[in-house]
Amino acid sequence: MQSGRNTKQKQHIVSILKNSDRPLSINEIYNKIINDLPRIAKSTIYRNIDILLDNNLIEKYYFNDSEVFYRYKENRNEHAHFIFCDECKNVYDLPFCPLRELEESIEADGFIIKEHQLQITGICRDCAQNHVN
Ligand SMILES: [Zn+2]
Ligand SMILES: [Zn+2]
Repeated sequence: MQSGRNTKQKQHIVSILKNSDRPLSINEIYNKIINDLPRIAKSTIYRNIDILLDNNLIEKYYFNDSEVFYRYKENRNEHAHFIFCDECKNVYDLPFCPLRELEESIEADGFIIKEHQLQITGICRDCAQNHVN
């Protein structure tokens, strides 16, 4: 049955994101999921990701305009940002969201905000130290 299969795929994607300590790209999700579901198509993953986004179960992040990462949300109000290192590709947590206050003042003007993106990329401390030599 179509819907049964979709549920299984969706649960797989959720558990992959849940068990990851950093946001994952579609390719990374794909490379993990084919161990268990070798015949899954990337389009299927995209479709399930869209459903999970609609259900507010995951968050979406942009990196260098073209790369997109997804992260499982422990609860629906959870909201976080990341710093991406261009060299080692590590992902670091931003300690807080700096846009809340700005959002409140925009909403005070009657604008309804749906989401925001904040992209910070650069060179992490470990990689920066290697540059000094
Ligand atoms: Zn680095
Ligand atoms: Zn934010």
